[in-house]
Amino acid sequence: MKISDLLKSSKRSISFEFFPPKTPEGEKSLFKTIKELEFIKPTFVSITYGAGGSTRERTINVVKKIHRETSLTVMAHQTCIGHTKDQIRQILEEYKTVGVQNVLALRGDLPEGEEVDKAFLKDGCRYAVELVRFIRENFGDWFSIGVAAYPEGHPESPSLEADLMFFKEKVEAGGEFAITQMFFDNRYFYDFMDRVEKAGIKIPVIPGIMPITNFKQIKKFADMCGATIPPDLVKKLQAVADSPEDVEKIGIEFAVKQCEDLLKNGVKGLHFYTLNKSKATIKIYQQIKDLI
Ligand SMILES: Cc1cc2nc3c(=O)[nH]c(=O)nc-3n(C[C@H](O)[C@H](O)[C@H](O)COP(=O)(O)OP(=O)(O)OC[C@H]3O[C@@H](n4cnc5c(N)ncnc54)[C@H](O)[C@@H]3O)c2cc1C
Repeated sequence: MKISDLLKSSKRSISFEFFPPKTPEGEKSLFKTIKELEFIKPTFVSITYGAGGSTRERTINVVKKIHRETSLTVMAHQTCIGHTKDQIRQILEEYKTVGVQNVLALRGDLPEGEEVDKAFLKDGCRYAVELVRFIRENFGDWFSIGVAAYPEGHPESPSLEADLMFFKEKVEAGGEFAITQMFFDNRYFYDFMDRVEKAGIKIPVIPGIMPITNFKQIKKFADMCGATIPPDLVKKLQAVADSPEDVEKIGIEFAVKQCEDLLKNGVKGLHFYTLNKSKATIKIYQQIKDLI
């Protein structure tokens, strides 16, 4: 099923993001997580892609396996940085051949210190908008294309206005829905949605929810992507830093409140960054399911 069609339903969407594991044990554990989450009947699940191709085969294999062996609708993340258009075409052909119809079109970030090879830039896509165009030009309407959105602005963007303009370009190029970067203060999301509406952008924008289960790890992710963790929450988490159970409890309580507020304010869906674990997401879901 195409996600753009699924999102037309009046029901809110629930989706889960996973990364492709490095080892056979990791893969076993991922499929156990997927089984544990299946009762929620997610609208779709998505699999990340290592920018530059570091997870190329693993992403393709996990996407195909979910498509083949489960009843879930799956979306493949595809980054363009460090890839030629030919390489991207080959990957997307593989998805098309097996019937996968959803792709999240992203630029990606190279590991720190690595420069984009000029040769790739010549035959590749510099920004996600070019990838969206490339997919539409080469695959027509086969893929339902999602794009990334940044309620607090993308860290490299000169201004929120410029970021919004680039977001709009991705939509005009063929992006049919968007998933946001993680954020912890809903005001950023609501302000962003006001700007989106004023800019005449009409696609569904699904907030990305990151349950905090390991403060150090999430703080690192948040710093990297420019997501603000509210000082009150930081204080609470720091006070229990020595107790992983307490950190998780506070993280889950916070995510429940965040999701409740988003649902009460009419969001189209929730996309959970699961980090391949089911426990926190299930606990959150159980407390918000009546609002969905
Ligand atoms: C939901 C979600 C899922 C993600 N999944 C992955 C993943 O699987 N793998 C991965 O490696 N990364 C992933 N990322 C991270 C993402 O790749 C990075 O945030 C990356 O830095 C930007 O990607 P983008 O697609 O938003 O890029 P773009 O939309 O191309 O934007 C990148 C930057 O360039 C600017 N820009 C855009 N167009 C232009 C233009 N024409 N001229 C000048 N500047 C421009 C933008 O304002 C922004 O600052 C994900 C992010 C999100 C929100």
